Amino acid sequence: MNRFECLSLDSAKSLIIENNSIVIVPHTNADGDAMGASIGLYYVLKELGKSVTIVSPTDFPEYLKWTDASKQVVIAEWENAKAKRIVRQADLLIYLDFNDLKRAGNLEETLISLKTPSIMIDHHPFPKDIATCMFSDTTSSSTCELIVDFIYACGWSEKMSKVSASSLFMGILTDTGGFAHNSSNPDLYRVVGLLMSKKVDKDYIYSKVFHQFSENRLRLMGYSISEKMVVLDGMHTAHIALTSEELKRFKFQSGDTEGIVNESLQISGMVCAVLFMEKDGFIKISFRSKCDFPVNEIAEKYFSGGGHLNAAGGRSNLSLQETILKFENVLEDYKELLIEEMQKLK
Ligand code: 5GP
Ligand code: MN
Repeated sequence: MNRFECLSLDSAKSLIIENNSIVIVPHTNADGDAMGASIGLYYVLKELGKSVTIVSPTDFPEYLKWTDASKQVVIAEWENAKAKRIVRQADLLIYLDFNDLKRAGNLEETLISLKTPSIMIDHHPFPKDIATCMFSDTTSSSTCELIVDFIYACGWSEKMSKVSASSLFMGILTDTGGFAHNSSNPDLYRVVGLLMSKKVDKDYIYSKVFHQFSENRLRLMGYSISEKMVVLDGMHTAHIALTSEELKRFKFQSGDTEGIVNESLQISGMVCAVLFMEKDGFIKISFRSKCDFPVNEIAEKYFSGGGHLNAAGGRSNLSLQETILKFENVLEDYKELLIEEMQKLK
């Protein structure tokens, strides 16, 4: 019944009980799951009487900032010295929603240099050995789902408040795209049931996450689809590339492109969707796919990234045009597989 039974639950629980000053670290460019898990666990640890700080490598989208805890997050890209000092002084570090210290971005070096006890809770494939206690379950919809089970397995269900449960629900909602993908495991609905028993206002959280975008964000979405989407019919793939001028024109803010990459998968027969974005000095790439088409393999092999089978990210130091060309060339090697996966959609 309990997914932590065979793992080192007791040692993780002891680490939390024995240590007072705890620092939670989500991955760089934190999404709803990373931030939901961090905030959800933050409130439970506070209830246990701990001194807790969330140190995020980078800022995170506005639509995730609706709790008091979210306003107290120390952002390392803004307050680097302070963030590193807090991390160095921690008795215990908790890594959420990542399994490779590379994903800690500007905190990577500091974290590698420390001997502080640590706990990792994550659902990405291919975990590296990065923590004293590692909980990795790639069958889980989200890290938030794992956090709920972890808290209950520790016997701390009473410490989970409505706001903590709401944050954890937010992570499940965002990582499954509103229960559209990665959400067929019955276990997930047992966990959602536990959260609902904490009086989570599902409609409020749904609206906070999916209906709080700026006018610019919606216009950027429309423009991207109407003007920038390229459909590679024979490849069952579509991509969108946005230049830094275009991002500036629509007053791009962190989080605004979240979701744009998913839109082209709505076209019948599409297996793979990609978003290229020109950032400061590099191209950020988001990959999404259907069925068993492994975008994490493409991200890892060719674009210094990784992620899940159907949702991955990477980067390129080439120009935007060169990056697109490189991707289209790589895709040639996957043509047969793309056609095979497309057949499954029929
Ligand atoms: P997104 O496209 O939303 O940035 O990322 C999609 C998924 O891929 C997320 O689960 C994220 O954690 C993962 N991901 C994004 N960028 C990277 C990366 O550079 N390396 C790895 N390992 N995973 C990434
Ligand atoms: Mn996640």
